[in-house]
Amino acid sequence: MQFQVIFLGTAGSMPTKSRGLPCIAIRRKGELLLFDCGEGAQRQIIKAGIGFPSKFKIFITHLHGDHVLGLPGLLQTLSLLDRSAPLEIYGPKGLRDFIDSIKETVRFLLTFDVMVKEIGEGIVIEDKEYIVRSSWTDHSIPCLAYSLEEKPKPGKFYPEKAISLGIPRGPLWKKLQLGFTIKLPDGRVIEPSQVLGPPKPGVKIVYSGDTRPCGAVINLALNADLLIHEATFDDSLAERALRDGHSTSSQAAEVALKANAKFLALFHVSARYEGRLNMILNQAKKIFPNAIVAEDFQLIDFYPKFNVSRIGNEDLN
Ligand SMILES: [Zn+2]
Ligand SMILES: [Zn+2]
Repeated sequence: MQFQVIFLGTAGSMPTKSRGLPCIAIRRKGELLLFDCGEGAQRQIIKAGIGFPSKFKIFITHLHGDHVLGLPGLLQTLSLLDRSAPLEIYGPKGLRDFIDSIKETVRFLLTFDVMVKEIGEGIVIEDKEYIVRSSWTDHSIPCLAYSLEEKPKPGKFYPEKAISLGIPRGPLWKKLQLGFTIKLPDGRVIEPSQVLGPPKPGVKIVYSGDTRPCGAVINLALNADLLIHEATFDDSLAERALRDGHSTSSQAAEVALKANAKFLALFHVSARYEGRLNMILNQAKKIFPNAIVAEDFQLIDFYPKFNVSRIGNEDLN
């Protein structure tokens, strides 16, 4: 089972030598879900060795340049690669005009359909195995936060229970393991709960976009396994953060604490803190110890267990 979060761009507003603009990839069972697409996102994807799978969706938080200017180049590259599968791009109102203007003014021939879906808050996608939700945040322009939550998985299978119920070993066992109700040749109906343990909760990840600390993000992030929250400024610039629609490190940590999140990854850190990231981290850790300041090409795996590492490719910076 693959479920990874890869930080492709962790700077805010302006890139630095070691940080690209906001872009977070989630890889799940061969599907790629990209959250924001800052300038240079396509090169980060290539460097990380993720590839461009046909199952590929993009979620944009808002239309500030640092979060969307990677889209034109990415669309061009996908065309040069002869992509044929449609690409779904979700985001707030204005996204369609932006994409249309790229298509009109930049002379590339798209080899695939771009399906732009302008959304507000609510359920964005309900797939068989996961749900993506969105909520409005508190920024200087309309901005969305997103959650991706796996549906609960069937619990542990107990073969001895299946045997005692007289269920023949084989395809019927498999169906029950997958959570389906079955009917035996003698007419008895067996529910999965008769042979399985309690359902296992899925992974939940929340991505804040740009925001002042806000209740909507706390609600969206309730009990999340990972909250990726912006921390544009350190605590000494709280007034500036309030004015510009951003959060400080301590404010982000308080959101994680109130949401009862398990782990906090700070990102969208202002370039002024390059070389001084410990200050951001230390302020956050006083409130929420289970935190990192995410770096480009950092990787979080959720299966078989939660693990933070770094993509091992050489030559990443
Ligand atoms: Zn931003
Ligand atoms: Zn912004």
